[in-house]
Amino acid sequence: PISFEKVEQGPPDAILGVKTRFLADDSPESVNVSVGAYRDAQGKPLVLEVVRKAEKAILEDASRNKEYLGIAGDVKFRQATQEFCFGADAKSVKEGRVATVQALSGTGALRVGAEFLATHFAGTKVYIPNPTWGNHFKIFGNAGLETAKYTYLNPATRGLDFEGMMKDLEQAPAGSVVVLHVCAHNPTGVDPTAEQWQKIVDLLTERQLLPFFDSAYQGFASGDVDKDAYAVRLFESKGQQMMVAQSYSKNMGLYGERVGALNVVCPSAGACARVMSQLELVIRPMYSNPPRHGAAIAALILTDPKLREEWKVELKGIVDRILAMRKGLREAIEATGAPGDWSFITDQIGMFTFTGLSADQVASMEKNYHIYMPSNGRISVAGLTSDKLEHVAKAIRSVL
Ligand code: PLP
Repeated sequence: PISFEKVEQGPPDAILGVKTRFLADDSPESVNVSVGAYRDAQGKPLVLEVVRKAEKAILEDASRNKEYLGIAGDVKFRQATQEFCFGADAKSVKEGRVATVQALSGTGALRVGAEFLATHFAGTKVYIPNPTWGNHFKIFGNAGLETAKYTYLNPATRGLDFEGMMKDLEQAPAGSVVVLHVCAHNPTGVDPTAEQWQKIVDLLTERQLLPFFDSAYQGFASGDVDKDAYAVRLFESKGQQMMVAQSYSKNMGLYGERVGALNVVCPSAGACARVMSQLELVIRPMYSNPPRHGAAIAALILTDPKLREEWKVELKGIVDRILAMRKGLREAIEATGAPGDWSFITDQIGMFTFTGLSADQVASMEKNYHIYMPSNGRISVAGLTSDKLEHVAKAIRSVL
């Protein structure tokens, strides 16, 4: 018989567990730089002004209702998100070769993609960068796919180990899937250069490896949504088949609304229709159909020229604050006389800086200085505020 007494305690989530400890710490010095969510200059969560405006317009639009969406989600959102990802001139979009389904943000898109691969391409091996966002291994593994790591970071330089990466991917069996972060790699903040992306696309084509892009930070890295889509658009322009999971958690600050999409770029419109039917078969027994509200917000912002322009300005403000915090943190650490080269803080891209601090050093930061970050030493720069920079810098200096 079923007795829930038999259920064992599971381990806390590596990052959400840190947040719980932070909330229990009432020291005025406490700083939470663990969670991958943007905070404003006062350290508070931010709802974009453009999101408020879109929500208001949605509420006032009497023609909208709360009926179920189709299995694949909001049609207007799906069209807009394709264009946002691949660009208005993308051949695959124009030729109707991209199967797009709305998803429960980036995580849900990855999971639906993983289920689809496991169903139709059983035995596929999925190569994931080392290190990566912690959820990748579980998402693909839980879908029943075999996962393997490929070299990504060179710990000594805190930069990309491009040779190591290429060497590992050269050895991947044909037909494997390669997970690639489109930009602002999490947790390292290290991205390939344009030239390196060219070499990656050539290698994947030659070795018959399928790219599965994770696009969680489009616009959030440089502030320019087109520039940040470079890698996906390069692959698309080469006629590559691929999968892309998109998230609007960070770039629209829609975290809890769970807005995202899965795109599968197919070789023909016929294949696209068949893939679409199969994606719906994955979704229907999982959660039936996605929620309306967040997708309606994103669709409106993406398609209304005025809102889109306002979003651009707000996004730029967010990116500028993150860049200012990077500069501030680097200068504050250098001012302590800490040994070593701290230029990586301003070189790395996106909301995180990968400090290279050990798990022991991280534990000491938490115990002695009330500074909370995951044990891999990743600092969410977007969680920093000017008044905390000196405290964080001094703590880092003291644990070195
Ligand atoms: N992929 C990467 C690399 C991320 O960093 C995140 C969030 O931190 C996600 C995907 C998924 O986030 P969400 O499910 O909120 O879209």
